[in-house]
Amino acid sequence: MEAFLQYNPTRLWFGKDQIEKLKQDLGSEGKRVLLVYGGGSIKKNGVYDAVCEQLSQMKAEVTELSGVEPNPRLTTVHKGIEICREKHIDFILAVGGGSVIDCVKAISIGVYYDGDVWDIITRKAAAQKALPFGTVLTLAATGSEMNNLSVITNWELNEKRGWGSPLAYPVFSILDPAYTFSVPLDQTVYGIVDMMSHVLEQYFHRTENAPMIDRFMESVLLTIMEAAPKLVKDLHNFKLRETIMYAGTMAFNGLLSSGTDGGDWASHQIEHGLSAIYDIPHGGGLAIVFPNWMLHCAEEDPSRMTKLAVNVFGLDPSGKSDLELARESAAALRTFWTELGAPSRLKDYGIDSSRLDELVQKSFMKDKVGSYKPMTPETVRDILIRSM
Ligand code: NAP
Ligand code: FE
Repeated sequence: MEAFLQYNPTRLWFGKDQIEKLKQDLGSEGKRVLLVYGGGSIKKNGVYDAVCEQLSQMKAEVTELSGVEPNPRLTTVHKGIEICREKHIDFILAVGGGSVIDCVKAISIGVYYDGDVWDIITRKAAAQKALPFGTVLTLAATGSEMNNLSVITNWELNEKRGWGSPLAYPVFSILDPAYTFSVPLDQTVYGIVDMMSHVLEQYFHRTENAPMIDRFMESVLLTIMEAAPKLVKDLHNFKLRETIMYAGTMAFNGLLSSGTDGGDWASHQIEHGLSAIYDIPHGGGLAIVFPNWMLHCAEEDPSRMTKLAVNVFGLDPSGKSDLELARESAAALRTFWTELGAPSRLKDYGIDSSRLDELVQKSFMKDKVGSYKPMTPETVRDILIRSM
């Protein structure tokens, strides 16, 4: 293992009716709160009313920012920063999925930065201070509710950038599985693909002797794979929503990279390139790319894929070469996601090779793409061509 610090300051309130903890956790009465949400799903499913009831009980002075886009945009972050400054906001409350939470993270650190917050997102400057924020999660997917990462799209530059800061952890997150009943089938599937991809990215590490973390990861994957096929047929099942919601948070809150090199993450980078140009759902892009990344890497080093094949996909290794088994594990992942209803080819989103060069370039927003297998523009191109 590698030396590591295990630290996560987010208070997680999990379970039915935990919304009641909101006023307790927000602290003193009369706070000026910025309530941030997306395109309006929270008004249809009652979550907005439940949150407002709590805020009114604590006599909060509430200002709203609505309309945060899926794949949240820098322009919306700017709007939020302006409101916080004008209204002297004390606390930001994100109510929604990963997009709303990621947007709030950027607002919270942008408030105290004199330049454009894009400098921090692009790592030209470091965050010095943040406005505290909490979240009420409505979609199980990203893990943003308990990590310090965020992904923001600059639509003028067609760049989708991931960034993080030790200051970007939510103070608290409230997770009531019943709030995810109204998530439609397609978004439910994207969420499942995203959380599984987070585990898989971390699984593709090169750290020796990480048996405990490897088994944690295998257990998260097996748990999701047991619940997901049932959930897509029974979207209002509390127990299944509960299992998937907890799995999504644990998949990406720091736990699963304890003591490892952190994993690969090239598939995420390639997906960010796709979303930056075509604005496709994150989970949809990952469903297409990840198995192709596995097939691409299998020839060079099938070792982690053979372990995955046996321990997670339950494949029989007898009489097979490592390469055959690795390929079978990529195929098993593809089949599992396709049977849930995820897309499998870029053409499912109407994407062809006409902007391939740009897609390759947009995948390289970080100096280094991939660590299990470091990518070059040629290798990314190969994965994209396999995905067409
Ligand atoms: P999302 O973009 O937050 O939400 C997707 C859609 O689901 C929205 O249209 C939203 O509608 C709807 N929705 C959310 N909750 C709902 C509910 N309870 N009922 C009905 N509809 C609901 O999806 P996400 O997958 O959570 O977030 C994706 C973003 O997070 C991407 O930008 C991705 O790159 C990023 N990401 C971040 C991390 C991280 O660690 N920070 C990790 C992976 C991905 P409304 O807008 O109307 O609410
Ligand atoms: Fe993701």
